[in-house]
Amino acid sequence: MSRTPDPIVVVGAGLAGLRAATALRGLGYTGRLVLVGDEPDPPYDRPPLSKEVLTGRVPVSATELPVPADLDARLVLGRAAVRLDRAGRTVLLDDGTALRYGGLVIATGSSAAPWPGPGALPERGVHLLRGRRDAAALREALLAGGPVLVAGAGFLGGEVASAARSMGLPVTLADPAGSPLEAAVGPMAGSFVAAVQAAAGVDLRMGATVAELPDRDGSALLSDGSRVAARTVVLALGARPNTAWLRDSGLGLAPGGALLCDGRRRALDHRGSAVPDIVALGDVAAPPHPFPGPGAPAHLALGHWSEAVDHAAAAAAALLGGAPPREPAVPSFWSDQFGLRIRSVGLPRAADLAEVLEHDLPDRRLEVVYRRGGRTVGALTVNRTSRLAAHRRRIARGLTGQEVRTDSGIAIGRLP
Ligand code: FAD
Repeated sequence: MSRTPDPIVVVGAGLAGLRAATALRGLGYTGRLVLVGDEPDPPYDRPPLSKEVLTGRVPVSATELPVPADLDARLVLGRAAVRLDRAGRTVLLDDGTALRYGGLVIATGSSAAPWPGPGALPERGVHLLRGRRDAAALREALLAGGPVLVAGAGFLGGEVASAARSMGLPVTLADPAGSPLEAAVGPMAGSFVAAVQAAAGVDLRMGATVAELPDRDGSALLSDGSRVAARTVVLALGARPNTAWLRDSGLGLAPGGALLCDGRRRALDHRGSAVPDIVALGDVAAPPHPFPGPGAPAHLALGHWSEAVDHAAAAAAALLGGAPPREPAVPSFWSDQFGLRIRSVGLPRAADLAEVLEHDLPDRRLEVVYRRGGRTVGALTVNRTSRLAAHRRRIARGLTGQEVRTDSGIAIGRLP
């Protein structure tokens, strides 16, 4: 085993950073551990922000992540890493502090995609949702009343729309896709969710983007030429990996800006070689595509909670020079909105065929299996969580080449 790196600096004090630090201690690392985060808060969990926090069921303070009592890490909060000097094995912070590292964990997550324009964001009335302060501000705005315009009908946009409707506010949801969640789960599941959202009173504007933010009269312009009344606008337009501080580091970045890494979460340099003393995980990391094939990018940043959690042990082991995990982790995702418990395993968006096993709109139940090249690459359930474990096992068998292939299903682009 190689020499133990000491100290280990973890940049990013969110879910991935905390899990990596915990895993390092779990693997017996007894050296110095420093956890740096640019937010003033101790590590907290983001999924409740767009669900229970917006609806007021849970206060923002209750999202704090439990820190193990024996973690023995120095927390440096409210300080951003601004530069990585690999030759000097140093992370430079925004107050001029230079932190030397023997091993580095990059876990800086991502930020909400900004307003693409035209025009600058006004000071009030337009919200992004990534952190605790965003959630608190949006909750205040929703309490002040609607109407609400949500730009982006992905998981986050749907959850915001759901919270706003549960508070009785008029909601318009606009997205250039043909149905909500379409990029992630395809048009079949998307049209199911659309039907539920419409039945809950959401004014769905699919095939349209927000072209102009509300004017003084509170009227926003959509790309289809229509105008929508909006007191509050929420931009749920996706996420951007936080890698600006790595720009001169010589590490490799994927086209979307995420940090390239190998299957063990070791960072790759610009030549594609694994850097042994640096690992990356969570939203910032672009590991190899779990289902590689024609048309798929070689690396993919998933942006799922499970990515941060499931790979912490592998990343910690890679940094300490230990063995890789024996079982591949199956990606997963969940979303709760409009009474739908949406659960996904694998990567439905990697599929070319979808087979609907159950489609019961009145009872709000859906089960879809996604395949590519005869292999199961994903599954989605709505209010059928108990069915997921079997799909997960099958996908895991596929990842290790043990799955019996089937070609049933219809082309992903068509509606049933
Ligand atoms: P983060 O949680 O973003 O943590 C990274 C930390 O690093 C942040 O505190 C950031 O400020 C800090 N940082 C950034 N740059 C620097 C720097 N230069 N120096 C120091 N610190 C820095 N996923 C699901 O699977 N299901 C869900 O239902 C779900 N709901 C979500 C709801 C919301 C509102 C959001 C925003 C995300 C949701 N997600 C969900 C995604 C999930 O929360 C993320 O995948 C997860 O938080 C990723 O963890 P992370 O530690 O990689 O990144």
